[in-house]
Amino acid sequence: MKILKIDHLGIAVNTLEEGNKFWGEILGLKLEGTETVEEQKVTTAFYPVGDSEVELLISTAPDGPIAKFIEKKGTGFQHVSFRVANIEEALAELQEKGVALIDKTPRMGAGGAKIAFLHPKATGGVLVELSERD
Ligand code: ZN
Repeated sequence: MKILKIDHLGIAVNTLEEGNKFWGEILGLKLEGTETVEEQKVTTAFYPVGDSEVELLISTAPDGPIAKFIEKKGTGFQHVSFRVANIEEALAELQEKGVALIDKTPRMGAGGAKIAFLHPKATGGVLVELSERD
């Protein structure tokens, strides 16, 4: 599999206003835009950093995955996303290597990207996302 770069770091926050206080106002990162992914019950807010992004994750519903994450672990680092050249190829290779996958086939994420999550039990506790976009 070919990993091209760290695409983004996903960080769970309670509200955009709250998250923006540190990432936007204090660090001075520029909020490039927000996008709601209804299927995931999440709004993402993108702050480009060089060739990568910080992505704030705000739950849109109390039963969404980000709301549940915050309930269990609190706000903070949630996942790292690697941009790959070919996501289907990467998933096939990982399955061959016996890596537990949350998504065996890619789904649509923010920004029109194809994404898939690896299971944290296979990665030493880190939620890893693969993403491919044109
Ligand atoms: Zn992500």
